[in-house]
Amino acid sequence: MAIAQQGVTILGATGSIGRSTLDVVARHPDRFRVVALTANRQVERLAEQCSQFHPDYAVVADAEYAQQLTDLLHTASPATEVLVGVEGLEQVSADSSVHQVMAAIVGAAGLRPTLAAVRAGKRVLLANKESLVMTGALFMQEVEASGAELLPIDSEHNAIFQCLPQQAPLGAIPPGVEKILLTGSGGPFRTLPVEALAGVTPAEAVAHPNWSMGRKISVDSATMMNKGLEFIEACWLFGATADQIQVVIHPESVIHSMVQYSDGSVLAQMGNPDMRTPIAHAMGWPERMNSGVADLDLYQWAQLRFEPPDYDRYPCLELAIEAMRQGGSATTVLNAANEVAVDAFLDGRIGYMMIPAMIEACLKQATTTEIVTIEQVISIDQETRHAANEWINHAEHH
Ligand code: NDP
Ligand code: MG
Repeated sequence: MAIAQQGVTILGATGSIGRSTLDVVARHPDRFRVVALTANRQVERLAEQCSQFHPDYAVVADAEYAQQLTDLLHTASPATEVLVGVEGLEQVSADSSVHQVMAAIVGAAGLRPTLAAVRAGKRVLLANKESLVMTGALFMQEVEASGAELLPIDSEHNAIFQCLPQQAPLGAIPPGVEKILLTGSGGPFRTLPVEALAGVTPAEAVAHPNWSMGRKISVDSATMMNKGLEFIEACWLFGATADQIQVVIHPESVIHSMVQYSDGSVLAQMGNPDMRTPIAHAMGWPERMNSGVADLDLYQWAQLRFEPPDYDRYPCLELAIEAMRQGGSATTVLNAANEVAVDAFLDGRIGYMMIPAMIEACLKQATTTEIVTIEQVISIDQETRHAANEWINHAEHH
């Protein structure tokens, strides 16, 4: 049976997930056609991608980058129309020739374009976990209202999705499921003495032992804020309560997460740590297709280890779980404070253990409110960033 070609938009095409997505797309030219590619500032890399995939649209942050890109595409891909800013991102997320949108912009900047894809009823391949952390309740309501098909790209959530009963809808934990076992490697500092954490450098923090990822999520993996954000993401995606999710440290990253059933069965999804597996799974779903990932060599992994997380080592994980239990705007504040803290750490402005200290200060200072509109989410995000920056300025001058 011939499969109709699907139009694809890749938000954040120049990033780690974006590039892995293009690698998968290039393996299946019969199935996928690239309608739009987007970047923020990496104009040259985006131009190279355009010259290979010839999308209808390419989006960059502002007019200056747009001019640079237009010049580069003059001969390389003259039919590609260059668009700008959030409006451009929203346009290519909702375009009528698009079937699937890969949401792979990092951070809060991904919220509006991802929501545009949801509202347009697309198949949304969700890598941008921050949009669920900022406003999981509204996000899932929008999915429900539009009939968008939400599929998780985050390897853990993709694994959980694969281990849940196949016909179960997202957003409601199916009967018979007792617990989600959310695995994480523990990052590069799993065995470092806790006293030494204060002195770790950005270069050490972004050097993840198993996964190759963008800088922000690499720092999040070191602090295990990433697992905290994923805890929140799992609650919303699968309709689980905080008590139904258990974080397990699994240093080998071969099992990507598990689901425990009431009869004692535990289903796990395994594979090499390569994001092309969840990407190909979600793009081809419900069919399976080649991802380019090497077969798992079980003999290479003579043993798999499992450990409980230690909150003294990973205070960010505890802050995230507490914010989820608190609900409302607490996770919006958590996400914004974390983004500012990680940026400041990467810029050498604050030390590594100032990341949790600052997030905790922001959470304490903010009053938790119910989230009713997206505008409210964006304004809480902005207010928190302002408070977080003040905190850093203060810390720098003392
Ligand atoms: P990268 O930093 O590698 O890439 C981020 C992408 O977003 C780039 O294309 C970047 O453009 C673009 N971007 C950054 N800021 C903006 C902005 N303000 N407006 C528009 N576009 C912007 O990140 P990753 O690919 O690692 O991660 C992307 C998302 O996927 C994150 O939410 C992350 O948590 C999630 N994720 C990533 C995994 C991984 O293995 N990398 C695994 C699971 C989830 P430019 O290149 O021009 O800066
Ligand atoms: Mg993950």
